[in-house]
Amino acid sequence: MKTFRRELYFQTEKRRQLINITDQVAEAVKDSGVSEGLVLVNAMHITASVFINDDESGLHHDFEVWLERLAPEKPYSQYRHNGFEDNADAHLKRTVMGRETVVAISGGKLDLGPWEQIFYGEFDGKRRKRVLIKIIGE
Ligand code: ZN
Repeated sequence: MKTFRRELYFQTEKRRQLINITDQVAEAVKDSGVSEGLVLVNAMHITASVFINDDESGLHHDFEVWLERLAPEKPYSQYRHNGFEDNADAHLKRTVMGRETVVAISGGKLDLGPWEQIFYGEFDGKRRKRVLIKIIGE
């Protein structure tokens, strides 16, 4: 069995941002030489997510509105965690959107559905953060 590990780095300009990382994951799969296996992609920070959904700007706006309704950023005073930081909302948003995604590799390629795209979801950005890609297979 082969294994392959890579880290991606992101430093978003905005506090919250969704970034399509499908091409970077596909490149890692290619570089791994694995043709049949699995790729795990996970955020290495507890205020960011990796998830799969549609790359459609209206939907991305809907995610922002929905997440702000579930866990509004402000007022900061509404959260106990914000006694230490101002990012309680980002921890909650990350939990809703998920830590990681796993995608099958078939024939050396990501075996995604027709509209599936892999996203890095940043909820407390403007600083350097990492995503782990781990590939296993043969
Ligand atoms: Zn925090």
